[in-house]
Amino acid sequence: MKKIQMVDLQSQYQKIKNIVDVSIQEVLNTSAYINGPYVHEFQSDLEKYLDVKHVIPCANGTDALQIAMMGLGLQPGDEVITADFTFAATVEVIGLLNLTPVLVDVEPDTFNIDINALKKAITPKTKAIVPVHLFGQCANMEAVLNIAKEHNLFVIEDNAQAIGANYTFSNGTVKKAGTMGHVGTTSFFPSKNLGCYGDGGAIFTNDDALAHTLRGMVNHGMYKRYYHDVVGVNSRLDSIQAAVLKAKLPLLDQYCDARRAAAAYYSNALANHPSVITPTISEFTTHVFHQYTLRITNGKRNELHQHLLDKNIPNAIYYPVPLHAQKAYQDERYNENDFKVTNQLIDEVISLPMHTELDTEQLEYITKTIIDFLN
Ligand SMILES: *Cc1c(COP(=O)(O)O)cnc(C)c1O
Repeated sequence: MKKIQMVDLQSQYQKIKNIVDVSIQEVLNTSAYINGPYVHEFQSDLEKYLDVKHVIPCANGTDALQIAMMGLGLQPGDEVITADFTFAATVEVIGLLNLTPVLVDVEPDTFNIDINALKKAITPKTKAIVPVHLFGQCANMEAVLNIAKEHNLFVIEDNAQAIGANYTFSNGTVKKAGTMGHVGTTSFFPSKNLGCYGDGGAIFTNDDALAHTLRGMVNHGMYKRYYHDVVGVNSRLDSIQAAVLKAKLPLLDQYCDARRAAAAYYSNALANHPSVITPTISEFTTHVFHQYTLRITNGKRNELHQHLLDKNIPNAIYYPVPLHAQKAYQDERYNENDFKVTNQLIDEVISLPMHTELDTEQLEYITKTIIDFLN
């Protein structure tokens, strides 16, 4: 059996080596390392794929979130609501900009922001909501957008984990994850569903004026060379990463299908076990399985984690600490009773190997090892 990896980037690369190598060589031959043609080509390919008016490439998914918040003009003291159960980048940039993070609990079945908790958290100071499409399926965007409209709030979708997922509104309209709010952000970190071979990220919006602001902000606040109209940052997607992404974007739907097939295998094998809760997919979204995350309900999650490692099955706890309990983000405003679900999830979740190259032999070994351990 091929060695099982959490993410197998090498096997994926071998299948696209020809096209990727030629593209990277072309960047080397032209030395157009920054702002070369591949950056513009990838940007326009991604705009078409997502059916969004503007893609603004940048250096990583954390910058994308920060620049989106800067572009919307959020000011120190403004409250920004996001989920307690997510990667720290989301709350980190809120803190960096001296905005006030307001963390709220998530739903036990989808791990996405809890709509009632979100409603309860709104105050006169609330300016924005950051739904995170965690592990690859969309948060309840129809509800989020309705609440935002009612209270005149911005919606910034953190789409680092769900690029390629589709959301269906109750009127039948289908949109891509990341294109429903005022602005969406993503990451092209190598292990993300559309990953480059270094760091990369992008911001999406359908708002022409905001797009213009953002394009300057990623480049030192310059709209004309050496004229700095606003305080910006230096956050660029380089040409080599853009070349890799241009080669991989046409394969993204295929990659999502491969992840879904692996997830279906896992769920078929594990769904009936009394100590296991397999992922639930909301009716309004497709799932692109950035992570395949089980809940282990018999109190043996940590033992299972170690047992799988002993059996050479990599696995991970995403996330082991809720954001409200992280040293950097603790705040006396928070009350443990408001985080019942997150506090439970951190003891139950375990993410299994998930990537585009898992084969049946590996999946069979992984699921059999889990069932043997739990029985
Ligand atoms: C990966 C990730 C980010 C940050 O992306 P980087 O490119 O690593 O900066 C932000 N939010 C979420 C939910 C992520 O998973």
